Amino acid sequence: MKLVKLIANLGYGSRKQVAAMFREGRVTDPQGEVLYADDAVSHADVRVDGEALDPPAGLVLMLHKPVGYTCSTRDRGRLVYDLLPPRFALRSPALSTVGRLDRDTSGLLLMTDDGLLLHRIVSPKSQLPKVYEATLASDLRGDEADIFASGTLLLESEQTPLKPARLQVLAPRHARLTLTEGRYHQVRRMFAAVGNHVDALQRISIGGLDLNGLDSGQWRALDENDLARLW
Ligand code: URA
Repeated sequence: MKLVKLIANLGYGSRKQVAAMFREGRVTDPQGEVLYADDAVSHADVRVDGEALDPPAGLVLMLHKPVGYTCSTRDRGRLVYDLLPPRFALRSPALSTVGRLDRDTSGLLLMTDDGLLLHRIVSPKSQLPKVYEATLASDLRGDEADIFASGTLLLESEQTPLKPARLQVLAPRHARLTLTEGRYHQVRRMFAAVGNHVDALQRISIGGLDLNGLDSGQWRALDENDLARLW
C-alpha cells in the first residue's frame, strides 16, 4: 500500500493532508531521514513527527470508561471516542466498541477494528466471562445467587431464560456478578427482577483481562499476551 494511503487510513489526515506532511518533512524513518510519499517502507519503519505509527488494522484497545460517556460515534454529550486521540475516530477500518456499556456504567471496554474478534466476543455462543461489580439500593435478600445460577430467570419481555450466572456477595449492598452473555442492560434488569435497583455498576474484567494499571479515562493498546486472555 502507498505510504500516503497507509498513513491516511490510520486517521492522521486526509490523503491531501498526509501528502502535505510529506512535503513538510514530517514523515521520516527511525533515524530521522525524511521519507517521500512513493518510498517503499514498511509500517514499522515510519515515523510521523518522530513518533512511531499507530498499529495498522487489527488494533485492539481497552479503555477504563468513566461514568457519563456513551458508547456511540454520534450522540449528544460525551462519547468514549473523546477519550482517545482524535485520529482514532478517523481510522479505516473504523474502531468499534466491543458490545456496549451504559452511559452510567464504568469499567473495562474493549474497542477494535477487527470485526472477527468483535463478533467472537459478543457472539451469543461466546463463553467469555464478563465480571461486574454492582452497588445496590437495598440489602440483598439472600436468594439472589440461587436465582441467578438457576438458568431459569426470565427478564421482562424476553422469551429465553438467562444462562446461569455467578453472584458473589461482597457486602449487603455490594455484589460481584459473572455473566457469559450480554443482553441489553442485563445486570440492571437482573437485579430489578429480584426487586432491587443498581445504584452504580462497573465492569471489572472480560476473560482474563482486568483494569489493573488503568485509571478512569485511560486506555492502552492490547498486545499478544493480552489477546491470549480473550479466549
Ligand atoms: N449490564 C448493564 O445493565 N449495563 C451495562 O452497562 C452492562 C451490563
